[in-house]
Amino acid sequence: MSLVKLSKVTKTFGTVVVLQEVDLSIEAGEVVVLVGPSGSGKSTLLRCINALEPINGGDLIVDNISVRAGRSQIRAIRQEAGMVFQQFNLFPQMTALQNVAFGPRHVRGAGKAEALAQAQALLAKVGLAERGHHYPSELSGGQQQRVAIARALAVKPKLMLFDEPTSALDPELRHEVLQVMKSLAEEGMTMIVVTHEMAFAREVGTRLIFMEDGKISVDGDPASLLSNPDNQRLREFLQHVH
Ligand code: ADP
Ligand code: MG
Repeated sequence: MSLVKLSKVTKTFGTVVVLQEVDLSIEAGEVVVLVGPSGSGKSTLLRCINALEPINGGDLIVDNISVRAGRSQIRAIRQEAGMVFQQFNLFPQMTALQNVAFGPRHVRGAGKAEALAQAQALLAKVGLAERGHHYPSELSGGQQQRVAIARALAVKPKLMLFDEPTSALDPELRHEVLQVMKSLAEEGMTMIVVTHEMAFAREVGTRLIFMEDGKISVDGDPASLLSNPDNQRLREFLQHVH
């Protein structure tokens, strides 16, 4: 049984068709790297999988729950899928520790002590054990993004969605975020990662998907696609991201 299954998913904004009958199945443990030109529908695809955007046609199932089901099911899906954005989106008035403890306390209903202990463990996991009492403004971009990853992990998701997690970072800070993502992948986390980091795709990805105009046009093994992209538009795209 696939962890994520899209069957002929269509998403429109007004008259604009953003996803066109997309079929996609993702098994537990896959690390799917999603690439494509700006506006091809990558962010929308992630937002539909996380039930942040309703779909207009087809069906989308996450861990046996359909996004077309009722409100409580939608809430369940949001807990299954943790999301990390380009702009870290931390709560600025909360410390790193409070940011990470927020989900367990308010989504999972954990007690304060339990939530804080768990948050501390997660901060240690992303290499920030000593930074729990810092506010986001006191952290570097790379540290903030690692806090954001810890915060997403805190609700114990089965799936992690990353939308250009390193695009807002200076090159020298990207590595520490990619390293955390790599260890997550090695632990077996199922991940969908929108990124231009082709070294990450090659090293960590188990699958590379190229989207164009709301459709998946290439889907295959990252190493072979990157060394020998037989799709003309993927080849052109890769020349631009390098
Ligand atoms: P990508 O992440 O690949 O750059 P997006 O999923 O952000 O692409 O956008 C795909 C298309 O959907 C674009 O044409 C974009 O303008 C449009 N779009 C995205 N979000 C909205 C929205 N909330 N309202 C209207 N159009 C949107
Ligand atoms: Mg996007």
